[in-house]
Amino acid sequence: MNRTLIFIICLLVSAIGRSQVQSPDQFLGYKLGSQYTPHFKIVNYFKHIAEAVPNMVKLEQYGETNEGRPLLLAYIASVENASRLESIRMNNLRLAGVALDKMAPQADAPAIVWLSYNVHGNETSSSEAAMLTIYELVNPANTRTKEWFKNTVVIIDPCINPDGRDRYVNWFNSVVGRETNPQPFVREHNEPWPGGRPNHYYFDLNRDWAWQTQLETQHRIIQYNKWLPHVHVDFHEQSYNAPYFFAPAAEPFHEVITPWQREFQTLIGRNNARYFDEKGWLYFTKERFDLFYPSYGDTYPTYKGAIGMTYEQGGGSRAGAAVINQDGDTLTLWDRLYHHYTTGIATIEITSMHAGKAVQEFKKYYDKARSAPGGEYKAYVVKADEGDRIVRLKKLLDRNGIEWAYSNGANLSGANYFSSRNENFKTANGDIVINSNQSNSNLVNVLFERNSRLSDSATYDITAWSVPYVYGLNTYGLNNYVTGTTKTIATVSASVPSSPTAYAYAVKWNGLHSARFLSEVMKKGIKVRYAEQPFYVKGKAFEKGTLLITRTSNTSYNNTLEILVREASLAAGIDYTPVESGFVDKGFDVGSDKVRFIKAPAVALLAGDDVSSLGMGEIWHFFDAQIKYPVHVVWVNDLNRNVLKEIDVLILPDGNYRFFSEKSMNEALKEWVNNGGRIIAIESAVAQMSKNEWGIKLKEGDEKKDLKKDDKLEDYNSLRRYENRERDYIPNYNPGSIFKVELDNSHPLAFGYSEYYYTIKQDGNIYEFFKEGIGWNVGYVKKDNFVTGFTGSKTKEKLKDGLLFGVQDMGRGSIIYLADNPMFRSFWENGKLLFANAVFLVGQ
Ligand SMILES: [Zn+2]
Repeated sequence: MNRTLIFIICLLVSAIGRSQVQSPDQFLGYKLGSQYTPHFKIVNYFKHIAEAVPNMVKLEQYGETNEGRPLLLAYIASVENASRLESIRMNNLRLAGVALDKMAPQADAPAIVWLSYNVHGNETSSSEAAMLTIYELVNPANTRTKEWFKNTVVIIDPCINPDGRDRYVNWFNSVVGRETNPQPFVREHNEPWPGGRPNHYYFDLNRDWAWQTQLETQHRIIQYNKWLPHVHVDFHEQSYNAPYFFAPAAEPFHEVITPWQREFQTLIGRNNARYFDEKGWLYFTKERFDLFYPSYGDTYPTYKGAIGMTYEQGGGSRAGAAVINQDGDTLTLWDRLYHHYTTGIATIEITSMHAGKAVQEFKKYYDKARSAPGGEYKAYVVKADEGDRIVRLKKLLDRNGIEWAYSNGANLSGANYFSSRNENFKTANGDIVINSNQSNSNLVNVLFERNSRLSDSATYDITAWSVPYVYGLNTYGLNNYVTGTTKTIATVSASVPSSPTAYAYAVKWNGLHSARFLSEVMKKGIKVRYAEQPFYVKGKAFEKGTLLITRTSNTSYNNTLEILVREASLAAGIDYTPVESGFVDKGFDVGSDKVRFIKAPAVALLAGDDVSSLGMGEIWHFFDAQIKYPVHVVWVNDLNRNVLKEIDVLILPDGNYRFFSEKSMNEALKEWVNNGGRIIAIESAVAQMSKNEWGIKLKEGDEKKDLKKDDKLEDYNSLRRYENRERDYIPNYNPGSIFKVELDNSHPLAFGYSEYYYTIKQDGNIYEFFKEGIGWNVGYVKKDNFVTGFTGSKTKEKLKDGLLFGVQDMGRGSIIYLADNPMFRSFWENGKLLFANAVFLVGQ
């Protein structure tokens, strides 16, 4: 074929392509908003757009969900920019100073707007809006939107949480009649447990941006950090009676947020307001949704230099496809998606109007991050542990693009996070250093700050997440930069000297990797013991909890035992040590009864209406995805004597268990525990057991004293004012703060820990110490153990001198009380071993 012919064919193809762009209504075969669109049809629509307008739209699959649904990004740009997306992306990374090629950036670059839809699966209008939005961006008849592409690139993630969305949509479509019913009390407005909000493992993906514990987030953040958009919008829904919320956000703002980030939020908000005013739609700004906790879809982008925002439409799962609201008006799915469409389009418009400034300020943000970083310290030195917490921390830093290095054995001085004192210290092999003069300095400061500085205590979420406490790794804050080295150090050795005839194999119990190893060998049927006391072999120390796999109990494996142990050790990322004799140098011998047999427990985890889906999901994810140990998930209503007969450990996540008010069920549970069963009760499950005479007692607060004081009025200023009624709860409020817990680490529940642990405390519950003979006080707070975060004055007063983690022996069984959640959002890394102890070691 000659060139002219090819050219004509190309023209024809693109002309046909253009004429084929279908609106969502045409493509789906129903009016958008008249029913819910399942995820695969949204995917098909985006594919259609990419095929119909290939010169403006690139579609990329960036991963798959737990249930196998595709995660997509659509890049929409002018024809010219669409052909050079990769160079725009690279230039943007150079502007941020994070490109590896270190080339100078071009200042004249397009602004990048990233729109994220449907992070909460049952806030369903937003993915419907995503279809209308992309259509109007490429619709040849819409000349207005084409203008913006001269200086703006748009990235659309049509659905961050496809599994959650389809859970809701498939359920809704299965219960709705031929006509939707707008009465809010009917079935289609009340979705069943666990609801479509979270992902497959019931995690809230809008709390996971920084921690990246979930698959969807891990895939997405790789793409996010490859692009670093200048504006990011996270689309949500709230109660269907609420008006629309858009930027600017509410206080507290984190102090690292720049004046430009505040200012541009206001410009964007005013532009949104213009369209809402035109139509007379209700909206609000500056209230309720704050910018503080770093793991939201607005804050994380903000700490990455973007204008990060949350938009909230009234709706959610209780809105169904149409609902009568408190004003007597009917709110339809179309209304909801059209509002989201309007703000999305308005945000692109205003960004395009200020594209030059947006790019310039983005560059300034990163320049300042490197040259004049804020925050309390110039450098952070994190001491390595023997276990895998430091490995996990390094992974967290890498995932967030935070630069770190190994420290060069140096004598330094700095503020010790754990002792709160300035100290001289020497770095050791494996310790790491993070200097704050780097592109991601704001994120470093937010993740490492010792004290969260709140501008307002009425916040939406936890107020403390300082990484040293979360990981339980001692850290120093330094007033000077520290040079480090990037040389890698060996981790797990693939080849331990082969000892196929060793007397036993020992594996240390010092982190999540130990539990993963234990799970792996137990699944193979290998018999395992654990040492209740430390011991020494050939000068090597083995702490309490060390696992021992003896040849004697595992004779059936003959010479393959070591091969299986090695396989498990590689899978878990932990070394094992062959022990040649049962006679140890110091401590109890391998054959002592201080070396306890671990019976592989049959574990049941309760799920259903009485159970917090978040709390349950964290535990399910722990077993299923992290240590890969089988867990029986049981509906709470199916729990009975027959189920109890089959299991060794029963886990009650945070929840409100009605069976504790049934005499017969309490008796069945007590009988089962007396016969050797173990209950692990978490958070409010502990509070409920305290009310039902299981043995643990809630510590009384000072409520009576307060009443007396109020009776005798001495200060007229203490009279409650009506306008403050929404803030009167604050003295009793604890959204999530950190307390130091003293540990009795001679008890198996605290094996693998030093003498303390840092807990995330999210309520005011504290318990009386167990009296001798009743139970073990394994984790408790002393008189002044508050560390950081916001805790209301009355709650702070109460959280003293009491028990948080305890074990009660009952007959041959035991009850493990965990008043705080050691698995919090799965990012509370230092709590996971505590939980593994409760499951595998306590009561064995
Ligand atoms: Zn939401």
